[in-house]
Amino acid sequence: MRPLIEVEKVWFDYRPEERPRAKWVLRDVTWKIAPGEYVAVIGPNGSGKSTLARLLNGLLVPKEGRVRVKGIPTDAPGKLWMVRQAVGMVFQNPDNQHVAPTVREDVAFGLENLGVPREEMLRRIDEALEAVDLPGMGERLVHQLSGGQKQRLSIAGVLAMRPDAIVLDESTSMLDPAGRRRVLEVMQRLNDEGIAVIHITHSAAEAARARRVTVMDRGRIVLDGPPEQVFQRDEEIRRLGLEVPVLAELTARLRRRGWPLPVTMEAERWVEEIWRSLSRK
Ligand code: ADP
Repeated sequence: MRPLIEVEKVWFDYRPEERPRAKWVLRDVTWKIAPGEYVAVIGPNGSGKSTLARLLNGLLVPKEGRVRVKGIPTDAPGKLWMVRQAVGMVFQNPDNQHVAPTVREDVAFGLENLGVPREEMLRRIDEALEAVDLPGMGERLVHQLSGGQKQRLSIAGVLAMRPDAIVLDESTSMLDPAGRRRVLEVMQRLNDEGIAVIHITHSAAEAARARRVTVMDRGRIVLDGPPEQVFQRDEEIRRLGLEVPVLAELTARLRRRGWPLPVTMEAERWVEEIWRSLSRK
């Protein structure tokens, strides 16, 4: 299957003329996202996660190397809208991503730019609001929404464009636990429907929900794989100053002491395995 997004030998710096290549913000990054994947990206502050996110939909373009979305380079002339439509972004701050006073107008904004006809536009807005659990809230004023509702509105704005992928750049970090949970539920549902999700997060628990975890350090990808494998490198991950999910840590410690537990991120299955192995002893 053709990758949805291909990052190929990408080098990036905000001021390349001032710095040696060894210190660039992204250094020779190669990364592929398949259609429908759910990938979490973790890494210390300043490791280049946001920069990588912004390269995925053409907000930034590589200084060297290539980013392709559905085979099209993000810096190809005249293709920026196609790229932006295919890969939507939701940012960290719920309060500065909205351009219109009402919920409906806000979702309409991107569609107007795409030139979607009015009938179709109204249908897509209603569907998008429904999909993010804000049904019938089109007339509400954006500034009266809670932080979590605002983030779901941002997702609706992206969703109305019928994207192939949604990138969340720390989009849950300013929300309370309930707001965060609902955003994650919505994203899980969208992923179940086939939309790829790329979630930049500093929460180990959020990363553990993904089917793949990519770890960045100083502009490079240092680990990449299913969470149950990546988080077995618990000491390496902690050395980067990152959290490790509790189950992964317990499993890693027990395995180091010679208890050959299989690796899983599912609590139920974990308890089963411990139980089975204890009964064998
Ligand atoms: P992360 O998301 O992992 O915290 P970023 O991609 O935000 O990392 O930042 C990587 C590096 O690039 C940091 O050293 C940061 O200071 C620098 N940087 C980020 N944005 C800009 C910018 N707009 N201008 C100059 N430097 C930037």
